[in-house]
Order: sequence, then C-alpha cells, then structure tokens
Amino acid sequence: MSNKKLIYLDNNSTTPCDPRVVEAMIPYFYEHPGNAASRNHPFGWEAEGAVDLARERIAKLLAVDPKEIIFTSGATESDNLALKGVFEMYKSKGNHIITATTEHKAVLDTCKKIESMGGEVTYLDVQADGLIDLAALEAAIKPNTILISIMWANNETGVIQNMKAIGEICAKHGILFMSDATQAVGKIQVHPKEVGVHLMAFSAHKMYGPKGVGALFVNRKGPRVKVTAQMDGGGHERGMRSGTLNVPGIVGFGKAAEIAMNEMEADFKRVAKLRDKLEQALLAKLEESYINGNTDHRMPHVTNISFKHVEGEGLMMTFNQEIGVSSGSACTSASLEPSYVLVALGLGDDLAHSSIRFSLSKFTTEDEIDYAIDAVAKGVNHMRDLSPIWEMYKEGVDLTKIVWDNH
Ligand SMILES: *Cc1c(COP(=O)(O)O)cnc(C)c1O
Repeated sequence: MSNKKLIYLDNNSTTPCDPRVVEAMIPYFYEHPGNAASRNHPFGWEAEGAVDLARERIAKLLAVDPKEIIFTSGATESDNLALKGVFEMYKSKGNHIITATTEHKAVLDTCKKIESMGGEVTYLDVQADGLIDLAALEAAIKPNTILISIMWANNETGVIQNMKAIGEICAKHGILFMSDATQAVGKIQVHPKEVGVHLMAFSAHKMYGPKGVGALFVNRKGPRVKVTAQMDGGGHERGMRSGTLNVPGIVGFGKAAEIAMNEMEADFKRVAKLRDKLEQALLAKLEESYINGNTDHRMPHVTNISFKHVEGEGLMMTFNQEIGVSSGSACTSASLEPSYVLVALGLGDDLAHSSIRFSLSKFTTEDEIDYAIDAVAKGVNHMRDLSPIWEMYKEGVDLTKIVWDNH
C-alpha cells in the first residue's frame, strides 16, 4: 500500500456515494429481495414501498408530484427518453427541436439520431461566457418547433443558464421545455415547475448516489406532457419506461435526495469557498491563466481554467498520480480533440487544449485544495520551463507571426 495522497477533483464525472446512501441500499440486496412489480406478496410490497419513499424524497427535492418522476438507468437514458419520446409523441405538431452546441453528448448525439429519423434540429451557438443568447433562441423558433432543450448547468464549465427567461420564451410560444439538469440537481435549488421546465433529466451518481440509476421528470398538469416509451416490456413507470426497477439503486437515489434537501445549502457554501481559494491561488501564482465561462452564473464547485501555452493532457500527467481532474481535450479514437464546449465559447484550439476542469465535492477538504494548488502550480511552471513557445512568448516574440513548418 502506498501512503501517497490521492485527491479526487473530478466530481463532475461522478461523485463518491455518501456512506448513508450505501447503508440505506444494503438491505435491498438481500434482506428485501422483492421486485417492486410483484403485487401479490410482502416481498413485492416492501420493495414497492421503498421505491415509493424514494420517489417522494426526490419529488420533494424538486418540488414536484411523485407521479411526475420516471425512474431510468441514468441521465443518458432520461435524455434519450425525453427527446425521442417527445419527438415521436408530438410528430403531428411539428418536427423541429432547438438545443445548444454546449449540451452534453447524451443530448447532442440523441438529436443527431432524431435528425436521421426525419427531425430538424437547430444547434444554437452560445455567447463567449457560455450563456444562451435569449434573442437568438427566440429567433430560432419556427411554426414547427415542438421542443427546446437547454441544460440547467454545464458539466465542463459549471455555467448555469437563465432557466426562468428560457421558460418564459417557451411558454409564450407554447413550446415544451426540456432540460438536462444532471449537474445541478442535489447541489443547487432546482424546481422545474417554478421556471417552466416540462421534462428534466438527472442522475443519482452526480449527487452522491449510486451509478446506474437516474430519472426523468415529466410534467403532468398544465400542460400534461407525454413521451413515447423507448423500451417495450411490462409497462412499468406508467407505461413510459418498462423494465424491473433497480430497487437498491432507487433507494440510494432517494436517500441522496433526502440528504441533499437537508444539507446541500450548507455543503455548497463551504465548497464554493474552497473552489474560490483554488481558483484565486492558481490565477495569482500563474500568469496567463484564464477562467472559462461566466463566473457570476456558475455552479459552486467547478472551475475550468486555461493555462496559456501549457498542453492540458501533458500538465495532467505531471500530477495525475496524485490528483484526478479532467482536461479540455477528449481522447477520441484517433486524435486528441479540444473540448467542443470550450471551442463553442470561442476559445482557440490552443487555449481549449490548455484547460483543466477542477470539480470539487462536499467531501473535498482544505488540505486537499492546498495540496492541489501547489501540485498544479508546480506542474504548470515545469511545463513552461521546458517549452520553447513559452520562452519565445516571454522574449516578446509575436507568436501569431511565426510560420510553423508543418512538414
Ligand atoms: C453525467 C452527465 C450525463 C450522463 O449521465 P449518466 O447518468 O452517466 O448517463 C448527462 N448529462 C450531463 C450534463 C452529465 O453531466
């Protein structure tokens, strides 16, 4: 066993479970093995009761009716069910969907599929701070628009959209409003009905619950929204999502929602302070560092920083034995591509490639942040010391005027 510290600052990828969540789940693996759909014996009733309680806890967190919660396997499935389900259900009204270029792949790839099924999709550009241009959104609406899908908070930058304003535009034009709120639920107040959201995807494993369980909120009154099921089977979840419910997972999801309801406000005041400390220290220690995305409308636990002339993947390698973060580059099959989210914010390839996303959790400690500040600063300085480009930059060479030999 190594006693090297391991510091987890990649909580937007997934959070650890709260120990109380795991404790609540354990009896449902063995002591209470029932299927929530078995209506004729106590084992089934117990499981059904546990699922009902979880549904109530989640509904309470969101200030919605428990009947409006459909359990799924995660946010990816919820995004698919909402987008494809609305597209199929409301075909006779139109085939046009509006979304944004900074959405999660679970939304973007689903929209691509919908295009191949005869749908028409507008992918809105965002402003340099990551926020939707509301006038551009309204201008994109057409007579055949049936759905607008805008995420509540972005997974890479933490930028929070003006949900109320978007909801008003949807209401004014009689268009359904769907939101991927996976990064927001359980961390900030998310009340879909208050802002006019009709469908909302979220996931347990981004809010200290278990992996492999999520939900879709579907508004039942004013308007009564329906989605076409994407999976056929026993007609579970009021016909919208067939398949035996993941009872232990749902119990954990419900426990996570209950904990969030009681504790998220205090947790995230503390987390925001640590995030601010990390961010301010890195910006102060390292010249030519830039925060990506709007900092006034942002999740309290995320900061996305570009360190100019430092390649993010290489930087990560200087400390990835000790600290887990994400870089602004995605290793796709063949090439290292810059994050499409950062490119959509107008960052050049160089700044997008030089970005690191730090995402904290309620378990992050001040010691860990202090350690991370030192390790990241050391790494950036090390990379720059080795970099001929940084040296030229320091000597005042105008790098934009250099003709590079690209072979
Ligand atoms: C993590 C994430 C997803 C995918 O959630 P899963 O539960 O892993 O399928 C979708 N959208 C956003 C914004 C996310 O952060």
